[in-house]
Amino acid sequence: VRPVPFTPRPVPLSATLAVNEAIARRRREGRRVLPLGFGEAGIPIHPALTRELAAAAGRGGYGPVAGSAALRAAAAGYWTRRGLPTDPSAVVAGPGSKPLLYALLTAIGGDVVVPAPSWVSYAAQASLAGAEPIRVATPPGEGGVPSPALLADAVVRARARGREVRAVVVTLPDNPTGTIASEETVKRMCSVARRHGLVVISDEIYRDLVHEPGRTVPSPARHAPERTVVTTALSKSLAAGGWRLGVARLPDGPFGRALRDSLLGVASEIWSSAPAPMQQAAAYAFAEPPELAEHVDRSRRLHAAVAGAVADRFAAAGAKVVRPEAAFYLYPDFGPLRETLREAHGVRTAADLTNLLLERYGVGVLPGSSFGDAPSALRMRVAPSLLYGEDDEHRLAALASPE
Ligand code: PLP
Repeated sequence: VRPVPFTPRPVPLSATLAVNEAIARRRREGRRVLPLGFGEAGIPIHPALTRELAAAAGRGGYGPVAGSAALRAAAAGYWTRRGLPTDPSAVVAGPGSKPLLYALLTAIGGDVVVPAPSWVSYAAQASLAGAEPIRVATPPGEGGVPSPALLADAVVRARARGREVRAVVVTLPDNPTGTIASEETVKRMCSVARRHGLVVISDEIYRDLVHEPGRTVPSPARHAPERTVVTTALSKSLAAGGWRLGVARLPDGPFGRALRDSLLGVASEIWSSAPAPMQQAAAYAFAEPPELAEHVDRSRRLHAAVAGAVADRFAAAGAKVVRPEAAFYLYPDFGPLRETLREAHGVRTAADLTNLLLERYGVGVLPGSSFGDAPSALRMRVAPSLLYGEDDEHRLAALASPE
């Protein structure tokens, strides 16, 4: 038998999924591991949503590439209620926002600016799509949006070396830092995008998990509606990541329509249509019936309580922690403890610290380097189980009274 005469293109497992696998391996060996790497809400799925999915289980046919009319109308309503008037024809559904983001990068077809730090997959997806990810630092204390001045500079420099920069990705609210960029920063970033002809991809998957009640999240779609794509999903606020359902809101006007056509072309070659039962459940979820809206609100309060308590403990231990304003992540920087960690444990980098936490203490987290930044930071999920135990019953009770 002749061996195959080439090696496949090396594509490493995404850092978040790799940590999942490492945890699963250790669990199979009978070790206890606290999974704080992967971005899961750690709350139970609402029974009304499960019922809706069960009722749709008989739907086995393919549907329209863009998604069902019911889902597109519901998602349009969701965005319209958040101050982004949306026509159902501007909505495209997919099997999660991750594949939608990849399909968008493929449809846009050029280099892309990503914030530093930012969610692990933007840069990896850009590279897979044959584009160059250009990292631009965020303003101090404001995660998720590249600093407008640095963005302009990076685009000019990349173009001067022949790169075709076409898009900038932002995360509002941010993962990994859990912070929310200011309206002013978003507005200034949008004017840079307009001046340099960039598409803005605004990943707003954590929009409904803002800790302070009533606080609004800025969206570039308000400042640059002609060039902004917004994405969201059921994964985080409704804890239904495994259901794989996301939606994109394409820009207004001729460019938006052309981009939608290209996105549908890519989608038609990759997933054909999002899973039909999930679309029906998602149509129900995006209509925001009171029982789901209350569930999201309770989980928002729960995440706020847990994130605040865990941030305080890290700060008391001497780490530098920016207090998260949304979502369920903490991004503590162990820089101030560098000497202590080196002397006590031989730890030099965040990757060393991640390994130590997994091997010795059974805690799975991610190093800041996975997010393209901060050699001494870690990203950890602040799971409700940290304060309320692992089983659903405890977490449900905690949901009912997160204070
Ligand atoms: N965007 C961000 C910022 C995320 O943190 C995640 C999940 O971790 C995703 C997108 C992917 O979500 P989905 O489950 O919709 O593919």
